[in-house]
Amino acid sequence: MDTLICVLFITSNKCYNHFAIAMNICEPGQDRNVAALSIMFMCGGLLVMDRDIEFMKEALKEAELASLEDEVPIGCVIVKDDQIIARSHNQRDKSHNPLGHAETLAIKKASEVINDWQLVDCSLYVTIEPCIMCSGAIIQSRIKRVVYGAPDIKGGAFGSSINILEASNINHRPEVVKGVLEKECADIIKNYFKSKRK
Ligand SMILES: [Zn+2]
Repeated sequence: MDTLICVLFITSNKCYNHFAIAMNICEPGQDRNVAALSIMFMCGGLLVMDRDIEFMKEALKEAELASLEDEVPIGCVIVKDDQIIARSHNQRDKSHNPLGHAETLAIKKASEVINDWQLVDCSLYVTIEPCIMCSGAIIQSRIKRVVYGAPDIKGGAFGSSINILEASNINHRPEVVKGVLEKECADIIKNYFKSKRK
């Protein structure tokens, strides 16, 4: 249910606070405007989750491209105003470049597209939790929101190995959402290394 339908539902259906009570988001006797707002937030949240899944699927397509190039399959897309403005995948081996991670390459492309190093209204979707280098690039580029799929226990810098957001005095802290299509994002890496061991 998108936000518009939700608003129409709320304004046209006199039973909406019964609906809210049934959904456990409103107590009997609670103000119906509170119920309406609760439903709107819930529907808005579902809409954001839908979009996150859609864009993570695009990041997974980039990871598949990396796999075809015999690179560790990590993919990334950057979104502004609900549109993908940059996409990339890990190219470290092919380019002999230790900086060639999916995120850093996508950040560079996005900056070129909008002609600005500050990606303040952008969201970054990446299949695996960003490393220390990439989380630094995310902070430096002022990306507003980071969505990642699977955690990286050994190298993840948003809580798995270290949490860069706990550093004192950093001048930017993006919103971080984790676990979107986590199994798919983890499986593509596991399958890649399994095939390498054969
Ligand atoms: Zn990285």
